[in-house]
Amino acid sequence: MEVYLSEDAFWGLLISAIEVYKKECYGYLIGYRDENNVFIVEHALSHQSAQRYNTGVIENKRAIRRMKKFLSNIPPLTLIGDFHSHAGWGDLKAVPTPSNQDVLVMEPKTVYIIIEVNDKRKSVPWNYNDDGALSGTTDDYYFKIVAYYLNLQSKVKRANIFCPYAIGFDAKPRRNGDSRLSVKAMGKAL
Ligand SMILES: [Zn+2]
Repeated sequence: MEVYLSEDAFWGLLISAIEVYKKECYGYLIGYRDENNVFIVEHALSHQSAQRYNTGVIENKRAIRRMKKFLSNIPPLTLIGDFHSHAGWGDLKAVPTPSNQDVLVMEPKTVYIIIEVNDKRKSVPWNYNDDGALSGTTDDYYFKIVAYYLNLQSKVKRANIFCPYAIGFDAKPRRNGDSRLSVKAMGKAL
């Protein structure tokens, strides 16, 4: 299984996670599945009425039903999954592994993204990991974006994430006055 992230979705994930750091963010993945069975994530939008805690999120089920109905009027976009963050707090470093509760609510033909966010220890360029994840640092944070899905046997599997936009982003340490590129990219996404 492969998951493609647009520039807009990439920024949506990061900004949602940072807004509520170190609480967990929760949001919708909006896009479609193409003919090759690749999930195309066009937008990652924050779920504004979710209740956030350091150790989890309670989503608003009525809001989700309303969203699904609304999106059914805008083909080809549909709700293809959701995302939430795992943020480190105290001495505990966050890991992007799904919790028992995360697994319990997983459904087939749906993509689930978990964003690990921790304080940055050192700068690393955005790149793909061997396990299919995408990771890198921006500003003071380290992010690891992992996508999961249920296979035909209902086992939780990692999908391969593709996000050409993110690769090499912030690869070089920023010098004074050299942050124009990032600001421009942010402006476009917002
Ligand atoms: Zn979780």
